[in-house]
Amino acid sequence: MQLKTLEINGFKSFADKTVIQFDHGITGIVGPNGSGKSNITEAIRWALGEQSAKSLRGGKMPDIIFAGSNTRKPLNRAEVSLTFDNSDHQLPVDYAEVKVTRVLYRDGTSAFYLNQKSCRLKDIVNLFMDSGLGRESFSIISQGKIAAIFNSKPADRRGIIEEAAGVVQYKQRKKEADSQLNATADNLHRVADIIAELG
Ligand code: ATP
Repeated sequence: MQLKTLEINGFKSFADKTVIQFDHGITGIVGPNGSGKSNITEAIRWALGEQSAKSLRGGKMPDIIFAGSNTRKPLNRAEVSLTFDNSDHQLPVDYAEVKVTRVLYRDGTSAFYLNQKSCRLKDIVNLFMDSGLGRESFSIISQGKIAAIFNSKPADRRGIIEEAAGVVQYKQRKKEADSQLNATADNLHRVADIIAELG
């Protein structure tokens, strides 16, 4: 799996549609302070389903939409797409190329797309879970994050290792199965009560 293309339109300082192609090997992005380098990695995290406006250096999610400049009016919409080469099928879908898109309007309305088809946030999060590129994975290390990892609690550090080992999806499924079991147990209690009343 390789990130091939990043398309940014209306996200933070990227008012115009900007397309970045990633070749094999290392890509370096250089620019003066405040020119938008961190905004690029934030766009990637956002498209992967980041839900915390704070971790994107905003107060609320619509703050990620281009807020205007001396020469340009604010925009009402932000869109970011990531295209992956999935010919090795590391992402568990049949497509050899996977494009994920996230759109947000200033009124808070948002949408996700998988290969142009509307989908849920959960579909995107599940797709990248354990791929090493999830929204909470450590493939994107922002400034100050390394110190935060060293200073984190053992339980949080264990989470990092679990993500790397690929067990997060099983923990998630166990949680879902547990809650289904609890709901079923409640239903059984209710049935037992009704049977007792009828008897
Ligand atoms: P440094 O090298 O200092 O870390 P950087 O190149 O990583 O800087 P960023 O932090 O990515 O730069 O970009 C900051 C710029 O993005 C600032 O100029 C800020 O005004 C602009 N910016 C952030 N959010 C928005 C927004 N919603 N609309 C317009 N511009 C924005």
